[in-house]
Amino acid sequence: MMISGSFALQRHARERAKRLCAVQLPIASRRNVVKKILPVFLLLFVCALAGASRAQDRPARATLLFAGDLMAHSPQLAVARRKKGYDFAPSFAAVKPIVSAADLAVANFETTLGGGRGGYTGYPCFSTPDEYAQAVKNAGFDVLTTANNHCMDRRFAGLERTVRRLRELSFDTCGTYASSDDRERVLVRDANGIRIAFLSWTYGTNGIPVASDKKWSVARLEAASEDMARARALSPDLVVALPHIGTEYLLTPPRSVMSFVEKLLSWGAQLVIASHPHVVQPLELRAPRSNDRSPAVVAWSMGNFISNQRPAPRDMGVIARVTVEKSGDVTRVVSADVIPTWVQVRTAKGARVSRVLPLLSALKNPAAFQISAADLRRLRQAHFDFTGRVLGKAVPLKNARLAYALEASSEDRFSTAKFDERALAAKKRAGLKAAESGKDGPGRVQKGKRGGRRSKRRPVRNIQS
Ligand SMILES: [Zn+2]
Repeated sequence: MMISGSFALQRHARERAKRLCAVQLPIASRRNVVKKILPVFLLLFVCALAGASRAQDRPARATLLFAGDLMAHSPQLAVARRKKGYDFAPSFAAVKPIVSAADLAVANFETTLGGGRGGYTGYPCFSTPDEYAQAVKNAGFDVLTTANNHCMDRRFAGLERTVRRLRELSFDTCGTYASSDDRERVLVRDANGIRIAFLSWTYGTNGIPVASDKKWSVARLEAASEDMARARALSPDLVVALPHIGTEYLLTPPRSVMSFVEKLLSWGAQLVIASHPHVVQPLELRAPRSNDRSPAVVAWSMGNFISNQRPAPRDMGVIARVTVEKSGDVTRVVSADVIPTWVQVRTAKGARVSRVLPLLSALKNPAAFQISAADLRRLRQAHFDFTGRVLGKAVPLKNARLAYALEASSEDRFSTAKFDERALAAKKRAGLKAAESGKDGPGRVQKGKRGGRRSKRRPVRNIQS
């Protein structure tokens, strides 16, 4: 037993040694393999690290889109009316691909969502079906400024409901607020890693008073300096100011607006997108005064994005697309272009239309959009007005494009004596037109039974559309 046990032990030891050898050989070969592969792995690892670091260094880019006034006059409601509810989707269908392609799309929501109980109304006190806001959302808009002279059209209850419903529809809003806590917060949105603060204020509320215990519900221009400081304290990458300011139907900004916009720029706004005049005023891409500064964008008025105001040029609007880039801690405006738009209104039975069209689409496809001969003449005139007056360089009709790049300019187009002359002439023309056609309002008033007729009841004096 001892011997056999000893043999057994020896055999066991031999087998163990074999097994050990059997194991040791692959380890040796693996070491060789590892020796060969390791440098490859190391190289790949270093490449991956370098790639990751390059990705970190690669500037973040975002395209911001701005449109003008989202109005809702009675004839628009009549066109959107269905057997059950309203459908405003056709109003935005032609511009949806442009709007929804932006990383962030912003507009001025110049009506209220007062709810169905009080009935829906157009000018002078707007209250619009919720379906309108839904259509604006579906068109691709993300951020709405609600600070404008119509925000109190349905008093505080309407203002509060508007903010609440817009937020329920996933909009971010600024300018009017449902609570004092809400007023304290600055709206900051992220676009591809770029943090953008949005601020807006209105010059007034058409004389409709805001209760003394609810002054926080409407951001007024007087609060701009303080609000800008609060925004800067959050260290956003970019500040966008959206003041509702100016004089209706003037083709150039008055001095008071110019000096206010200069203040906004000096307080740190890189983009100033103003609204209220309901006509397109010139747009500027200002070259920076030094290399370490970003160019600034100033849009004095983007006109009506959609409305029922018909006298030219109130039937026009403009979309501005601004590309911004963040590299390290520096965010700069890289480029900006503008797309002229036109609101087509057809109220004839069977082809009732109220929709925004890119000017080029309307010019090139009059048959497809059922554009009348008179409207086609207007479109051609609109092209020359836009390129000549707004962009400052008339473009032949055959060279009409969807979008026009803004050229960076260090020239201050608005501080010359020439500008004063132009502004004065425009003021006179606007005065004459206002005297001829009656002020404000939905322009060509539809005489149908439902909506459209201008209300004789004016709740306040000096009301503005
Ligand atoms: Zn306004």
